[in-house]
Amino acid sequence: MQEKKDVAIVGGGIVGSLLALILGLNGLRVVLIEKQTLHDLNTDLYDGRSYALNAASKGLLSKLNIWEEVKEKVQTVSKIILQQGLDVAHPQPFEVNFFDYEIDNSPIFYMLEDRFLRQTILRKIRECPKINHLTSKTVQGQKIVDGLIEITLNDRRRIIAEVAIGADGFPSKSSARAKIKNIGRNYKQSSIVGVVRHALPHNNEAFQFFLPGGPLAILPLVGNRSCYVWTMGTDEAKKINKLDESLFLERLGKAFNDRRGEIQLDTPSKVFPITLAIAEKLVKERFALIGDSAHNIHPIAGQGLNLGIRDVACLSEVLILARRCGEDIGATNVLKRYSRWRNYDILSMSLFTDITNKIFSDNGFLLQIARGFSFDIVRKSPRLKTYLMKEASGLNGDVPKLLQGKHI
Ligand SMILES: Cc1cc2nc3c(=O)[nH]c(=O)nc-3n(C[C@H](O)[C@H](O)[C@H](O)COP(=O)(O)OP(=O)(O)OC[C@H]3O[C@@H](n4cnc5c(N)ncnc54)[C@H](O)[C@@H]3O)c2cc1C
Repeated sequence: MQEKKDVAIVGGGIVGSLLALILGLNGLRVVLIEKQTLHDLNTDLYDGRSYALNAASKGLLSKLNIWEEVKEKVQTVSKIILQQGLDVAHPQPFEVNFFDYEIDNSPIFYMLEDRFLRQTILRKIRECPKINHLTSKTVQGQKIVDGLIEITLNDRRRIIAEVAIGADGFPSKSSARAKIKNIGRNYKQSSIVGVVRHALPHNNEAFQFFLPGGPLAILPLVGNRSCYVWTMGTDEAKKINKLDESLFLERLGKAFNDRRGEIQLDTPSKVFPITLAIAEKLVKERFALIGDSAHNIHPIAGQGLNLGIRDVACLSEVLILARRCGEDIGATNVLKRYSRWRNYDILSMSLFTDITNKIFSDNGFLLQIARGFSFDIVRKSPRLKTYLMKEASGLNGDVPKLLQGKHI
């Protein structure tokens, strides 16, 4: 059996699903192929991950009427506290604070749990007549046939499309099938991630402490709840995550250093290994990469999904405009517009997270001094602070229309 589509998207995580939705709403015939079951995609159980979404991501989600549906579940962040030191109870003298009033009083970022975003996007996809959403299916092959791309599924179904998109996360098999190599490194770090309920209010504050093993982030959620991303050496993370609940809470409580009063687990914790992997190329013949399959970065700045959403905004604008002009949407010159637009942003964000992790996860004496100096420079420079916050908003540079909340 063979079906013909305009676009075949491999991987229906948040990034692949958003691309499918935008293209489908703009009249392109899309097949979205996901290996998980519909039940698993729709479950209320979640992996404890929450996203720090920036203003640009909010703009795109608003344009798709997703923000309206999730806004009750969104926690705004009005202050970020950065500290560093050898242990949380004894921070080094200088701390850096970022406030919302330093960027026009708009929230610095927005916290949203993975499950609420995922479920809302899923509902929209299922309602869009132009999207054929295939679940419990894996892609087993992709090749160029008669000038188009053919995708073969595990049930031997074949789909012919003008262009295929790899959105299957890290490590990406679709990228390997297209013979695109990654550059990067294994950090030998992992993040323990979960949500706690706590006695004290969080006052819309996010907190990040740079420890020698990796950063600890405590991020506010709706209610007296916070999500934590606790990064350390992989062996230690596995050991801590295996502790029974009371011992785990004791260790976590020490890391929280009584910042939120008494804490209780709201979700089981989960361990995510941390790797840097950047695709050497974003496009090949009739094929493009987006999201974590194109760039898997350190969560130190909470930017992975924001970066993937920027890919979606750029690629959808390129493909929709090409279609309107009567161009072949899978042609190399069309896909190269996307890679030219994205290369600099992806590389600079990957380098930024990599260097920040290197500087802050090293115990060397000189780096400790350098860290103290860099904190002091940022602390004393309101302009630098405003610049950093504007950069993190995703609205600097050549911003695609959807991120500005405009129509393509
Ligand atoms: C600890 C941690 C904290 C983070 N915090 C933040 C944050 O605060 N802010 C932020 O912006 N980002 C954050 N990130 C990054 C963010 O989680 C990722 O960038 C984002 O989830 C990537 O989405 P994706 O859709 O590209 O990939 P994925 O979520 O990995 O989705 C890929 C999909 O493809 C499917 N798939 C895989 N193989 C196949 C196949 N062969 N056939 C069909 N389907 C397939 C998978 O089932 C999956 O559904 C964090 C990451 C971690 C690890």
